[in-house]
Amino acid sequence: MARKVIIAGNWKMNKTAAEGKALVEELKPLVAGVTAADIVVCPPFTTLGAVIEAAKGSNIKVGAQNVHWEKSGAFTGEISADMLVEAGVEYVIIGHSERRQYFGETDETVNKRVKAAIAAGLKVIMCVGETLEERESNKTQAVLDAQLEGGLAGISAADAEGIVIAYEPVWAIGTGKTATPDVAEETQAGIRAKLAALYSKEVAENIRIQYGGSMKADNAEALVSKKDIDGGLIGGAALKAGSFAELIANGIKGAQSK
Ligand code: PEP
Repeated sequence: MARKVIIAGNWKMNKTAAEGKALVEELKPLVAGVTAADIVVCPPFTTLGAVIEAAKGSNIKVGAQNVHWEKSGAFTGEISADMLVEAGVEYVIIGHSERRQYFGETDETVNKRVKAAIAAGLKVIMCVGETLEERESNKTQAVLDAQLEGGLAGISAADAEGIVIAYEPVWAIGTGKTATPDVAEETQAGIRAKLAALYSKEVAENIRIQYGGSMKADNAEALVSKKDIDGGLIGGAALKAGSFAELIANGIKGAQSK
């Protein structure tokens, strides 16, 4: 069965509640009736409520950008999975490279967050990706294998099938340097091969793998037309309703050309 396209916007630390609401209000008519892709927006925590309210009744789903693994307690500044579920959140991004780079995220903490999110019923977008130095020293596959093994440790095949993997080469995030469709496809085929080794070929075929890293309206079609690219995790181009809607439409076109 064909994997459904999933396009998710990672707003990072952008958009106040009022700005987030305005963006969703503008996006809604632009994507109304779109059923060929799952559309997700991931605002900052304090913007979630306004965005969830604005997205109600539409085809726009809402995700958070992080989650803590404990249910409650003395973890100043953290948010639990149950809190996100109560707020109406459906998805959560885990292990983004900015969290790995600036906030000490490791494969072990990614794994704890993934387990807690799944246990609470959240849909996980788990990010993996190599640095430029790792790519240039031919370590890409080994780095991705380790991130997948660590992040998915102890996750059952049934749960793994519901996880979305976001392949985000660190050198392409926010830099304007997109991996070419061929490079992204080659790498994502390698990710799928690793998933097949961890689970089975059937399970790997069901897992959606997004590409992320300077994906825009004008390169989305070529990227998503590739066999192992099932959508995108989008930073900059998700901050304007028009560019995000155009990217979604082009990504769907790419998927339809497979
Ligand atoms: C991201 O941060 O997930 C991302 C892909 O950012 P950008 O699209 O801006 O490169």
